[in-house]
Amino acid sequence: MTDTNLSIAKNQVVSIHYTLTDSQNEVIDTSEGNEPLVYLHGAGGIIPGLEFELEGKKIGEKFKVTIPPEKAYGPRAEGLVQEVPKVQFPNPDQLEVGMSFQTDTDQGPMVFTITEVQGLSVTVDGNHPLAGEALTFDVTVQDIRTATDEELQHGHVHGPGGHHHG
Ligand code: ZN
Repeated sequence: MTDTNLSIAKNQVVSIHYTLTDSQNEVIDTSEGNEPLVYLHGAGGIIPGLEFELEGKKIGEKFKVTIPPEKAYGPRAEGLVQEVPKVQFPNPDQLEVGMSFQTDTDQGPMVFTITEVQGLSVTVDGNHPLAGEALTFDVTVQDIRTATDEELQHGHVHGPGGHHHG
């Protein structure tokens, strides 16, 4: 049963349809035609700027918001762009622009994407692909329900659209 008086607050399970566009108005991602995105509000499962905008909204509400990089995937850090010798990769002859690799760093696992291959070296970028981007979200709130105790303990949503434990 859906309680239509619920508004989005911490520990609610929220379903949204969204379309994400970048500053060039290119669609980066959308849930249209798919299942809505389901997340646990207040658990940091979505970017902070969007979670902030959703606070207090009710089922059926629609809004459009542009979120600056600081409240999305952060600013770009040029220090995360590095030139690396090809021989440091397990497959130096098969490196191509756009490939990504996970490596362990002092700050934990990080994903690097190859942005250039030249001679004996490659340029890798450890920034999130959307770092430095202002992101515009077109959002419709589809559903709100109270999280179960188990979901709160786990910090994520169970059931349709959520996490499944096998
Ligand atoms: Zn779980």
